[in-house]
Amino acid sequence: MYTPASDRYEKMKYLRCGKSGILLPRISLGLWHNFGSVDRFENMVEMVHTAFDAGITHFDLANNYGPVYGSAEENFGRILERDMRPFRDEMIISTKAGYDMWPGPYGDHGSRKYLIASLDQSLKRMGLDYVDIFYHHRPDPETPLEETMEALSDIVRSGKALYAGISNYNSEDTRKAADILRANHTPLLLNQVNYNMLDRWTEEDGLQDTCEEVGAGMICFSPLAQGVLTDRYLKGIPEDSRAKRNFFLHESSLTPELLDKVSRLNDIAAGRGQTLAEMSLAWILRRDRVTSVLIGASRPEQILTNVKFLSNLEFTDDELAEIDSILA
Ligand code: NDP
Repeated sequence: MYTPASDRYEKMKYLRCGKSGILLPRISLGLWHNFGSVDRFENMVEMVHTAFDAGITHFDLANNYGPVYGSAEENFGRILERDMRPFRDEMIISTKAGYDMWPGPYGDHGSRKYLIASLDQSLKRMGLDYVDIFYHHRPDPETPLEETMEALSDIVRSGKALYAGISNYNSEDTRKAADILRANHTPLLLNQVNYNMLDRWTEEDGLQDTCEEVGAGMICFSPLAQGVLTDRYLKGIPEDSRAKRNFFLHESSLTPELLDKVSRLNDIAAGRGQTLAEMSLAWILRRDRVTSVLIGASRPEQILTNVKFLSNLEFTDDELAEIDSILA
């Protein structure tokens, strides 16, 4: 029987998501990796408990997380059934559709047909009546944006999702999507995008300003660059690491030049009394422009280490300049 930590809400900080009524934890947990049918169920249970005990209320999924596709949602449904169901109303659970999910022309991209069918499947796999956030996972230039956004609005109106989100949308498309959703009286809750010290496209794109202007939040995925922005690879490539085990992070991308930068960032983090993982998360949240960082983890200890960054989000101008010069 699981009893959550009674001080969980004192440990976490929460920030309003855009102009909505929702407060998101500054750090959220994603189930892209390590929650599939190939992974150990007890470890998943421990990670969800550890996160919830730390005040992490937001759990992020997608239809195709696994492997195999759908298995992360099935496993999360098993965890809910096992001992988390009593806390359903304390959680923000999200899922998405937009990438390859099932064969044929209706299991991918952005049609109304795909989105509505996919969410029905996701709800069954998780054993839920509704998700809190349903996202279109990536822009689909071949489907009219009106069709995709109307599908999101209708899903919200049907009660199968409480809020609509978009993911991987740039500034221009975010503005268009937000306009359509607002006209449909189902405002855009947030945009989920890649942002970390090594990938700063959202700054050049002006996305942070756009999200603020349209009243939406921004949640950043892969804030640790899949583990690169930690000390994970500073002494070689461990056998149990993502770079060894998964094709989403290639060993070949861990070049000596990149690892030299990471090592110098690690020195700055040490000077701040933080691990590099903590500093990487703090760097993203140092201003309140990003609502939450969406981390992944392969073991509960990583979650426990990572939440510590919340105690030091301040950077001196010298530290920021040094970080920029390393990344330049
Ligand atoms: P991260 O950048 O946080 O990478 C997580 C990985 O970093 C872990 O699995 C672990 O790798 C390593 N790690 C984490 N903490 C530590 C630590 N303290 N010390 C050392 N290594 C650490 O995020 P993800 O790339 O996993 O993405 C997070 C979430 O974002 C996903 O689960 C998903 O919900 C979302 N996402 C959304 C996308 C979208 O298109 N909307 C795309 C990608 C992700 P290891 O296995 O080596 O231990």
